[in-house]
Amino acid sequence: MSAMILEGPAVANAITDDVASRASALRDHGVRPKLAVVRVGERPDDISYERGLAKRAEKAGVAVEAHALAEGATQEELLDVLDALGEDASVHGILLFRPLPQHMDEEAIMERIPEVKDVDSCRNSSLASVFSGKEGFAPCTAQACIEILDHYGISVEGKEAVVVGRSLVIGKPVAMMLLARNATVTIAHSKTVDLKSIVRRADIVVACVGSAEMIDESYLAPGQVVLDVGINFTDDGKMVGDVAFSGAEAKVSAITPVPRGVGAVTTSVLCKHVVEAAERAASKQ
Ligand code: NAP
Repeated sequence: MSAMILEGPAVANAITDDVASRASALRDHGVRPKLAVVRVGERPDDISYERGLAKRAEKAGVAVEAHALAEGATQEELLDVLDALGEDASVHGILLFRPLPQHMDEEAIMERIPEVKDVDSCRNSSLASVFSGKEGFAPCTAQACIEILDHYGISVEGKEAVVVGRSLVIGKPVAMMLLARNATVTIAHSKTVDLKSIVRRADIVVACVGSAEMIDESYLAPGQVVLDVGINFTDDGKMVGDVAFSGAEAKVSAITPVPRGVGAVTTSVLCKHVVEAAERAASKQ
């Protein structure tokens, strides 16, 4: 029997509908949720993400204001832009594309985004809020994993979750978010011994490794739910995940595809965070 396919676009559309009605309620009170997107240089990945984001934001009723700096811009120039956006009450969220050019101190710059506007969890203090269950925004990709589970009514309480990967953008936050939902969580990484048997015993597998189709069916077991966060490209330019999809699909009970899986949900999560930030700002006025 083949697995249920956890379709990213279906999740994204449901989130967008909800966000659009919340944005409309805000507009009735004179507030237009707005995201400022800040880019340094002309990386094609950033530009293509910006394009997808613009389409999604339009559907969600979120305004997007783009700020593009030249690759050679100075750190001070970037900080001036961030400071102005931080002070601008009409801007509710700030997204800064990373990595920044080598001549910039990325960590210091990220800390200049006010926490209330840090809708993709750049700042250490935002991550700390996520880890301690306070009111911070989680990194959008980690949040997208949780949104997929929620949309399909998959409870993780009491289940064993294995997260393969421990980056600050995905592995660690998604592990903490699963823990907050009462899963029993293991975080595996490149030094993990006997990864196969650890992944095989999980009820929920989150793959965020960055290695094309590394997790093949020999790592997997019947009944598992697999979230594949990986975005990798084969030599012939095909986009694949960290999980070898066809073998996995034949074995597990539910799986996200790549493309049209986790990655398809992230821009709608970003819009949701912007609307949440606008709602919080409005409630404080
Ligand atoms: P990363 O910072 O490179 O982290 C990769 C993690 O995987 C590290 O913790 C590393 O362990 C671990 N790892 C590497 N090789 C391993 C192995 N053979 N066995 C077990 N663990 C191994 O990557 P990332 O930024 O978290 O991204 C992960 C993937 O998600 C990438 O494919 C990326 O393109 C994708 N991504 C997707 C989205 C989306 O929207 N879907 C967004 C962002 C990123 P160590 O810590 O021991 O080195």
